[in-house]
Amino acid sequence: MHLIYHFSLITITKKYLIQINKHCTFTLYYNKQLNTKKTKSALTENDGVEQPKMINADGYLRKKEITIAKYVSEIKKGNRVFLSKAITLIESTNTKHKLKANAILQQCLETKNNSIRLGITGVPGVGKSTFIEAFGLYLTSLGKKVAVLAVDPSSSVTKGSILGDKTRMEELVRDDNAFIRPSPSGNSLGGVARKTRETIMLCEAAGFDTIIIETVGVGQSETVVHSMVDFFLLLKLAGAGDQLQGIKRGIIEMADSIVINKADGDNLRRAQLAKTEFKRALQMYPHKENGWTPKVTTCSAIKKDNINGVWEIITKYLTLVNNNDSFQKRRQEQNTFWLVQTIEEQLKENFYNNPEIATQLIALTQKVKEGIISPFDAADQLLAIQNKK
Ligand code: GDP
Repeated sequence: MHLIYHFSLITITKKYLIQINKHCTFTLYYNKQLNTKKTKSALTENDGVEQPKMINADGYLRKKEITIAKYVSEIKKGNRVFLSKAITLIESTNTKHKLKANAILQQCLETKNNSIRLGITGVPGVGKSTFIEAFGLYLTSLGKKVAVLAVDPSSSVTKGSILGDKTRMEELVRDDNAFIRPSPSGNSLGGVARKTRETIMLCEAAGFDTIIIETVGVGQSETVVHSMVDFFLLLKLAGAGDQLQGIKRGIIEMADSIVINKADGDNLRRAQLAKTEFKRALQMYPHKENGWTPKVTTCSAIKKDNINGVWEIITKYLTLVNNNDSFQKRRQEQNTFWLVQTIEEQLKENFYNNPEIATQLIALTQKVKEGIISPFDAADQLLAIQNKK
């Protein structure tokens, strides 16, 4: 049927065709074929539409660049996809990305939100992830928007990270009011910390009002996290009578609360005993400037026991520090501290990334080792390279 129509049509005049038009549903198609005088078959393909170039000359997939304004407006709307993309810019080592991230951050700073920043530390296995999941879910049930970040000093070495395995917080990950981001990797704790701090600001601009920063209770990372949070919580286990051993004095001093986790089953009694011991031990520490006396409590993250008790301690703390203005004072001090830290980090980075310095450093280190020149002279020579135009 199709072909018969075709052969008859290509031999007829335009006038004829119009008459046939009235009776035949295929006419438009054949009309076009006739006008273009291209076809002798109904199987002819139509001209294709030229495809947009998806690949650049250098072979990379071309992506449409997102403007800074778009990033900022989407982040302020709480768009997590854009929030994640902007965090990726913060974490990038590419200078162009860093500049863009800085511009986004600057514009996001204008957003004021009454967030609280909580630091949570504890040795591996103490139950940090389990606790944060239970605590985070409790907070979202109160209508809060929770962002969970991490500062993991080991991530640069292992390329893994706490929070890297998101399945550890299965329920919280699926919560629409929660946002979880693993620790950035980096060559230095300072670098990792800076990225985390910038990420805090972006999360706040995106409307997250409770920022939880997890870190492992080893090394220097607690000090760094302490310098970016309003409240610092130390998770502990009830040990076999040695609760106070092996705990760095500094960490206890920093803690605004000590929470003994795994207070369940056979462990319950020991956990309560540990609580009494910690309370007694804390009395020996100097009073905090802000007038807060650190509180000790127990909980079971797995059974979700006394999670509300932990939150009560935090709200009491917030009431105190807001009333005596020390909340604002601490944030201001932290900002000044971070200004200095950022300058120092950047200076160091610029110095060691200078190729001439890198070469000279090897040669001069050797000379210092051999006693040919003094370390001070070598340092002066290297710094002179940095300072020359
Ligand atoms: P993290 O390494 O500090 O993040 O610790 P995890 O949250 O991964 O927990 C380590 C182990 O302790 C896991 O097997 C958890 O199931 C278990 N755990 C965590 N919290 C509790 C708790 O409250 N009670 C008990 N009995 N086990 C817990």
